[in-house]
Amino acid sequence: MKNLKHLFPILYFFLILSCDEFILKKTVVVKLLKGDIIFEPNTPSLFGTLNYTIKNRQKKSLQEIFFISHPQVQIDTIKYNGDKTRFDQGIGYGMGIYRIRIPVLPSESDAQIEITFHLNGPIREERFLLTSEQVFMDAKKIWLPVPFAETPSFLYLLKVSTPTNYISILGARIKEETIKPDRREIVWQSEIEDVLHTGNIFIGQFERVNHNDIFLYSYNPIQPNPIFSFCRKTINLFSNRIGKYPYSQIHIINELFQYKDIEEFIDGEAMANIIQLSPELSDTNSISIDKITNSPIPFVPRNNVAKLYEVLAHELTHAYLPTILKFNEDNYIEQEAFAEYAGLCSIWNYYPEIYKKFIDGNRIELINLKLSGQSDQRLFRYLYGVNSLHCAFKENPALFLDYINILIQKYRYIEVGPEELIQTANDVNSITSPSNTIIFTNAIALLGSEQLYNVELSFSNLYVTNFFEKYKTVEIHRQLFIQNGFPIPVDVILTYIYMDYSLTNIVHLDSFSNTNLICDNKVLSIIAKTGLEALEEKLSDNQVSFISNYGEDIAISSINNFYNNQKFNTRWVKIEKSNTSNEDEGLESLYIDRERSTFVSPSISFQFDRIVPNKKEGYIQAYKMIDNKPYSYVIFKFKKENINRIDILGIIDPLF
Ligand SMILES: [Zn+2]
Repeated sequence: MKNLKHLFPILYFFLILSCDEFILKKTVVVKLLKGDIIFEPNTPSLFGTLNYTIKNRQKKSLQEIFFISHPQVQIDTIKYNGDKTRFDQGIGYGMGIYRIRIPVLPSESDAQIEITFHLNGPIREERFLLTSEQVFMDAKKIWLPVPFAETPSFLYLLKVSTPTNYISILGARIKEETIKPDRREIVWQSEIEDVLHTGNIFIGQFERVNHNDIFLYSYNPIQPNPIFSFCRKTINLFSNRIGKYPYSQIHIINELFQYKDIEEFIDGEAMANIIQLSPELSDTNSISIDKITNSPIPFVPRNNVAKLYEVLAHELTHAYLPTILKFNEDNYIEQEAFAEYAGLCSIWNYYPEIYKKFIDGNRIELINLKLSGQSDQRLFRYLYGVNSLHCAFKENPALFLDYINILIQKYRYIEVGPEELIQTANDVNSITSPSNTIIFTNAIALLGSEQLYNVELSFSNLYVTNFFEKYKTVEIHRQLFIQNGFPIPVDVILTYIYMDYSLTNIVHLDSFSNTNLICDNKVLSIIAKTGLEALEEKLSDNQVSFISNYGEDIAISSINNFYNNQKFNTRWVKIEKSNTSNEDEGLESLYIDRERSTFVSPSISFQFDRIVPNKKEGYIQAYKMIDNKPYSYVIFKFKKENINRIDILGIIDPLF
């Protein structure tokens, strides 16, 4: 969902802001809208008859009421309880305002209003499109007249008639479909009262396929089965965990009308039970989910079936957010992060390896956004929000869906903000007993932050002189230093690795604090886990090793030598000349990267951050340093040829 504020037509906005109480006092509520709408491609035009059952909810009786519509929609006739009635248009408020004079309508009484209207094209305005080929009308543009109200809220039953080769789609369910020799008539029945979400219309010459209640519309034939099966799985999971799915049908349009990137952060858009998808996503169904799972790459590349699932899952969550669980307007980005993380919970449930790649990929993107000076931007806050939720619910993403269920029970239709989120997490923690299902509430408090933080391990040798022995002796102890750079308290789980066993120990550190520990000399290495890795700036310092990490050290030092045109042992490390694998997006040969990097500055080096091995292949994550300053966060793909030799296959530098 894009920010509603930006989408509101100026007309509607103008009315809410400037309309005096006068008009609000003349408004009625709609109990039900029934009507017939006809699309004629030759003109092109939309026209029809609409029957509103209205009710006067004002304390006083009414003798005039106001309707509003987009200025290009023409109202031809108005009947009140079956009789033609007079109306004025314009009346100082603009073309789209109609004043209807009516006989006295007492308070709490119902009446019928019938309106005939027409709308002639071609029109090619933003989200207000009427051509011979297609129709896309955003409900917020008020393409159907409605009584003036702050937020229109009613159910509708609309029959849309098109030529047989066209198909209409509304944010509702297909109640009935009749195909005549020259016309197709679909009766659409809305399932929720939120007209701003349900009242969008699409018409086009689609091919339509369906599997039970999931419908897929496309201009080009596509392989529908992955879409159907993943939607079904996600709806099942959400229904079980979050609560009944609000719609009985889903209509997926494999097309973005007018735009690419209709949502701000993701390649799709949800409007009630309509989901628009970028067709690029379904084009690439040939790359199987297993292939992505088995790839060692620590993120999900663009345009493949895992991305398609991510977008579908995200859009499916919009059935609950914001129609049932609403966030404050200030927390719009957090709401989107919630939608995204809920979607990732479905991916986690069915493809846990892919879930990890999304989280790792977000971290890589966050670091690169920061390095390129964009940590104040909306995308940073969004990805940060997703990874904060991962840190808060890491042990159990299903708990997150239960948590949304509890939020809905507590705050259905009431706007929530950070306080309500934290309060509810504390409530959940107080009623759940096993410690591994506890929400890390402090990580939720990081939502909206614009910084990456760091937990750091380091060590020094401590020389202890023993005066009590007969002969004075000097012992070397290792002193471990742990620093928590996060603005929240952290439990650091330390694992001490010995030759043939390991021990764990938990150290609690307050926000921005540090501590020292003495450890014995037999320890080979120590690994720190905080559960906040997805928001950490550096992972190399989450571990200290008293023996050399031969593989990593030699790989990074050889790469550094290579970029500085110095010799290195080519028996141990081989650098591939050209990128042999064309499957990895953005993977470049180190020869090419060296040339363009040293063009910027001759001083290029890499600082190791993390190694992600995967069977015989793997990735090294590292900071690319230009003139000793971190420039970008890169990935080296490698293949382990044998126990002694590593092949560097290429580099992915997202900022180059
Ligand atoms: Zn969204």
